[in-house]
Amino acid sequence: AKGGAGGYTSEKEVESDMTDLPGIVITGASGRMGQMLIKTVMASDKARLVGALERPGHDWIGRDAGEVAGAGHAGVPITDDAVEAFAKAQAVIDFTAPAATVEFAALAAQARAVHVIGTTGMSEDEIAKLGPAARHAVIIRAGNMSLGVNLLTTLTKKVAEALGMDYDIEVIEAHHHHKVDAPSGTALMLGQAAADGLGVDLNEVADRGRDGITGARTRGHIGFHAIRGGDIIGEHDVLFAGPGERITLRHVASDRSVFANGALRAALWGQDKSPGEYDMVDVLGL
Ligand code: NAP
Repeated sequence: AKGGAGGYTSEKEVESDMTDLPGIVITGASGRMGQMLIKTVMASDKARLVGALERPGHDWIGRDAGEVAGAGHAGVPITDDAVEAFAKAQAVIDFTAPAATVEFAALAAQARAVHVIGTTGMSEDEIAKLGPAARHAVIIRAGNMSLGVNLLTTLTKKVAEALGMDYDIEVIEAHHHHKVDAPSGTALMLGQAAADGLGVDLNEVADRGRDGITGARTRGHIGFHAIRGGDIIGEHDVLFAGPGERITLRHVASDRSVFANGALRAALWGQDKSPGEYDMVDVLGL
């Protein structure tokens, strides 16, 4: 078994209690989230960094993952060999891009490692491709790993349920200018929660951005609007606009560590769970 002492305990194993901690591999090691995740795992006393991945040909292959993340020496060189890296891992934390995440899911499942997916912008087809992997391993996927947003999701559902169709729901999000997908994964999570509260199918009621002569707003629809600019880490408002009053539920992320801490918590939570697909609401028990 991976990570287990199995048989006699060698002097080397006695030297370091760290070897008993779940080993974590970070994909997309040079990314904004990859760097934050490397720092978070290195600072944790509940997990240890055993691998960091980048794509073949990346300048950082062979460099120390901790040093490039500004977290000191990790003794973990960045590699492009996912199979070898995942074989040492109890969990893979993956904030990359949809096509890469689909490939990593199959490889993580082969290694029986928990796969924590923060990647957003996945199509229905790509999400369906995670199914076979989840038959063999734990997959935890959420468009937002922060405690605050997951609380906001449960609140959004409750408020939508209480107010019903008389209150128009609009989800407004803002992110930095590098972000490639819109609406954000978080906005879609919040929209899904609102749709669940109203008891409707989000695909049938989503208005994703408005432009031109759109006609009057359709009752029961859920609007999505994306602002992109500067270095905004992530802001989400759910507006309920009713007759004579408006309610706004708001979350502002001011540091990427909230996502990394949530992802690490998910990786640890998943260690004793049965294979299947989970989300942060499961992890946080909300
Ligand atoms: P980023 O800075 O662009 O980092 C993405 C990383 O993934 C880069 O290192 C990139 O390498 C790597 N990558 C992309 N395609 C790859 C492939 N095919 N194979 C291997 N590596 C690949 O982006 P970010 O801001 O960190 O965000 C990453 C993802 O996480 C996005 O989908 C974002 O929306 C999501 N996110 C989720 C949460 C959450 O809580 N769920 C929070 C924040 C961000 P290259 O530089 O070589 O392309």
